[in-house]
Amino acid sequence: MVIPYVREMAFEYGRADRVSPLIRRVVAQNPGPFTYLGTGTYIVGAREVAVIDPGPADKTHLDALLEALAGCTVRAILITHDHADHAPLAADLARRTEAPVLGARPTPSRQAEKPGMEEGSAPSYRPDRVLEDGETVSGPDWSLTTLATPGHTANHLCFALREENALFCGDHVMGWSTTVIVPPGGSMTDYYASLRRVIAGGYDILWPTHGPPITEPGPFLDAYLEHRLKREAQILELLSRGPANIPQMLSRLYMGLDPRLHRAASASLLAHLIHLIKTGAVAADGPPGADQAFRVIAPS
Ligand SMILES: [Zn+2]
Repeated sequence: MVIPYVREMAFEYGRADRVSPLIRRVVAQNPGPFTYLGTGTYIVGAREVAVIDPGPADKTHLDALLEALAGCTVRAILITHDHADHAPLAADLARRTEAPVLGARPTPSRQAEKPGMEEGSAPSYRPDRVLEDGETVSGPDWSLTTLATPGHTANHLCFALREENALFCGDHVMGWSTTVIVPPGGSMTDYYASLRRVIAGGYDILWPTHGPPITEPGPFLDAYLEHRLKREAQILELLSRGPANIPQMLSRLYMGLDPRLHRAASASLLAHLIHLIKTGAVAADGPPGADQAFRVIAPS
């Protein structure tokens, strides 16, 4: 997908860059097919700060964050969701700063994704308190309001920084790629609703965990949604020529895809198909899965 409205980002691993009057960013050195350049950890505020998504359990990143936080009091460590590239460092950072860990509800272990699928949920993640939709955490010069945005995961949260009309969007929206949606925790139906929620918020800028900020959220998000709806139309068009299973759809709809992303693309197809079953456009003969054949339901 070619995404307009996104710029390159200047950074160096482990360096705290001031990216707005209230925001600094430190990027962890965990680049990969799902994390792009790495996890961007945000520090919000001047002296009394919030840290958003401390990142993977990585000693070098912890040291970089502690250096950036020297002279600051950490009021809260906020977590958008419990994937292994976002949450595991929270425990160590909390121990070193005595700050509470607040944010996403931990994923029930029965729903946890298999390791190797995206980054997977971190079983070690235990927040001091789960934040509910609409709850605000604040410091002297900032306030961050929780926006529940299920889709990428069932527990995903974004945080709106009122003072800059900005949104920390975690993996809900990525500045470089589409978001991976892995059922059963991930849901395309919820994802559409959560994207529309962010569009309706009218933010001036989005700060994703991976990649550069999105400085024109309106047209960007419209294109982002459009891309998903186009994929949906492609699935329906393909199935209108006869039933097909996910491996067959993958080879026809994702030609030339990086093999490391095949499982993620299969999961996204499954997420689309579950959504299309819900809307009554598609049917399967059993519980939707990889070997199942899907077919379109002709409108009566
Ligand atoms: Zn991530």
